[in-house]
Amino acid sequence: MISLVIPIYNEELLIEKLFYRCTQALSTITEDFEIICVDDGSQDRSLEILKSFHKKDTRFKVLVLSRNFGHQAAYTAGLQHAKGEYIAMMDGDLQDPPELLASMHQKLLSEQLDIVHGKRQKRKEQWGKKALIKLFHFVFKRFSQISDVNDVGNFSIMNRKALNAFLSLTEKNRYLPGLRFFIGFTQGFVYYDREDRQDGEAKMSTLKLINLALDAIFSFSDLPIKICLYTGLIGMILFFFAGLYTLISKIIGIAIIGWSSILLSLYFLGSIQLLFMGILGEYVFRIYKETQQRPIFIVKEFYSEERNYNN
Ligand code: UDP
Ligand code: MG
Repeated sequence: MISLVIPIYNEELLIEKLFYRCTQALSTITEDFEIICVDDGSQDRSLEILKSFHKKDTRFKVLVLSRNFGHQAAYTAGLQHAKGEYIAMMDGDLQDPPELLASMHQKLLSEQLDIVHGKRQKRKEQWGKKALIKLFHFVFKRFSQISDVNDVGNFSIMNRKALNAFLSLTEKNRYLPGLRFFIGFTQGFVYYDREDRQDGEAKMSTLKLINLALDAIFSFSDLPIKICLYTGLIGMILFFFAGLYTLISKIIGIAIIGWSSILLSLYFLGSIQLLFMGILGEYVFRIYKETQQRPIFIVKEFYSEERNYNN
């Protein structure tokens, strides 16, 4: 059995297409599948439409979260409810072609892999967004010790063994593509060109994307805290020599009485201190969130009753 998990947040324009393309694509692999759409607190007619398709085919299941928890949480919720032996993840905006799942599944079986990721060769997003994504992958790759994450997103398929390991990770700041690499096992790639979303507006605002990137960087590398450390060290060395210079110029009597230099260094030091306090604050906040032990998501309803789908 194959489970396909799809997070849905205000995608009313796309659900019909999604339903037909996914059921079609999965039937080419097996008739024994389930599609778990996780409604992440949609405010439009998404839930209503999802439920109407569930009535049509109960393999199309609807997991309703109690509010908007963000798409990484929605994926986690869906994965926890998946019953299949093989479990796939895909965004609900059809940027990733569900038809590719067949070859991803094929690769998983024939090469005896545990996880197959879809790796994007081309992207069709706007250039600004594309540039930000590139920058993020560049930084993440250098500092996380996970080099393969380049151009890999949520689109993937894994077996039960990998999923169980994946679900055992309970941290609250979740960057799923990174976590998928973290668990290890044997992993492979299928290459594809990524489309632009098929309809509607992007549901991940720029701010949400930046937050996700920060989650990824803070939870997978010590780069931010290293920046503090090294800047502090370099600053100390610089100020040692500056101090030495002032002392000597005082002794030999060429000291300049300069307001501007004092003001400038004050501003400089002040802003650096604020920046680093912010970075420290990020760590403290993350530790605080982990210790609160709040759930990653809360389920309101689950539409999944079985019926014979052949008639
Ligand atoms: N999504 C979600 N909750 C959110 C934001 C987005 O479940 O708070 C879903 C959305 O419906 C879509 C997927 O996550 O199926 C990816 O969203 P989007 O395409 O807007 O993200 P991007 O392509 O910009 O990464
Ligand atoms: Mg998208």
